[in-house]
Amino acid sequence: MFQLDDPEYYKDATIDSLTSLPEKVAQDVADAYDGLSKPKMIAWIHTHPNGRPMPSPTDREDATMYQRCFANALGTNDFEYYNGIHAFDTSRRSNATVDEYYVPQEKPIGASWTGPRFTHTLAMWDPEFKTPYNVKVISE
Ligand SMILES: [Zn+2]
Repeated sequence: MFQLDDPEYYKDATIDSLTSLPEKVAQDVADAYDGLSKPKMIAWIHTHPNGRPMPSPTDREDATMYQRCFANALGTNDFEYYNGIHAFDTSRRSNATVDEYYVPQEKPIGASWTGPRFTHTLAMWDPEFKTPYNVKVISE
């Protein structure tokens, strides 16, 4: 897993937006697999601090560009690709109890869990950001 909060992976960050450097991320992933089998699945997940795991117009415009960066860096299109949005709402504080923390629940789009500060949602989407996948929470 490559954490995108590494300053090497973005060129601009504000409270409202982040401009990442997907070519750099893709090249680092490709370099990490040098001499190994190429990854068969890649997911590009970014955060929406507004609480909604729905793609923005920019997300839809840029969706296939991220996949292309990985294809170029890896030299192959032979991998499954997913877009994801991690959302949390900074305007609403969590009122969950400790026992309720981090218990994932399926939602109409994605799955959510509550932490000490906020409720988070993770939604996974197709490569074009047109259709969300159903997320199943499996209890052990
Ligand atoms: Zn977005």
